Amino acid sequence: MLKTLLVLLGLPGSGKGTQGKFLSDKLSLPHISTGDILRKIMSSDSDISREVKEYVSNGMLVSDELMNRLVDNYLGSDDCANGCILDGYPRNIDQLNNILKNQNVEIKFIFFDLNQDIALKRILGRFQCGDCGKLYNKYYSFPINSGRCDNCESENFVFRSDDSENIIKQRFDLYKKETLPMIDLCREKGQFFLVDAGKSEKEVVEQLDKVIEKN
Ligand code: AMP
Repeated sequence: MLKTLLVLLGLPGSGKGTQGKFLSDKLSLPHISTGDILRKIMSSDSDISREVKEYVSNGMLVSDELMNRLVDNYLGSDDCANGCILDGYPRNIDQLNNILKNQNVEIKFIFFDLNQDIALKRILGRFQCGDCGKLYNKYYSFPINSGRCDNCESENFVFRSDDSENIIKQRFDLYKKETLPMIDLCREKGQFFLVDAGKSEKEVVEQLDKVIEKN
């Protein structure tokens, strides 16, 4: 049977994480966010966590060798037997080639198109529940019971340390240099869809529903 790989592409802050979680529930496919995986690794105390921290906290990309190995492990696991939603990977041409080598997969690329100024504002406002990971934004989407997570009622909220303005600029520069040329290539390598990520969360959900229903 063909596995479905839904690959979410776009600037940091373009909503891939939020929409990736919705798509995961809707399609019953695991949401594999490489940023979340690396943050989990960084919360442990080990040589690998110190190495990863060095890159992530400076807005650099972690080595392709490590990223490809991590993702290959997920793709080969039983959880991903029917496919998965990839968020934050691939980020350059080497990583793209790594997923293209998989046999029996149908790859759908979904590009979250967003202007950099809006992405910056979204990133500077975002925070998340430290317990269940639900995402919020101090400008756009607060917990309904301010101070308590809508999902798990935790009062523990965290901002990401790499969401500071100078590190974000570095991440945007790397995106232009490494990821944009890869996105051009994705257009030739699988089905490619574009959503207007500048719309409200609900409208982006509607655009994604159309992509999924028709394809
Ligand atoms: P994200 O949560 O996707 O914005 O990722 C946070 C940080 O994790 C990035 O700025 C990179 O330092 C690192 N990272 C995440 N995914 C990758 C990847 N595919 N390749 C290399 N580094 C990554």
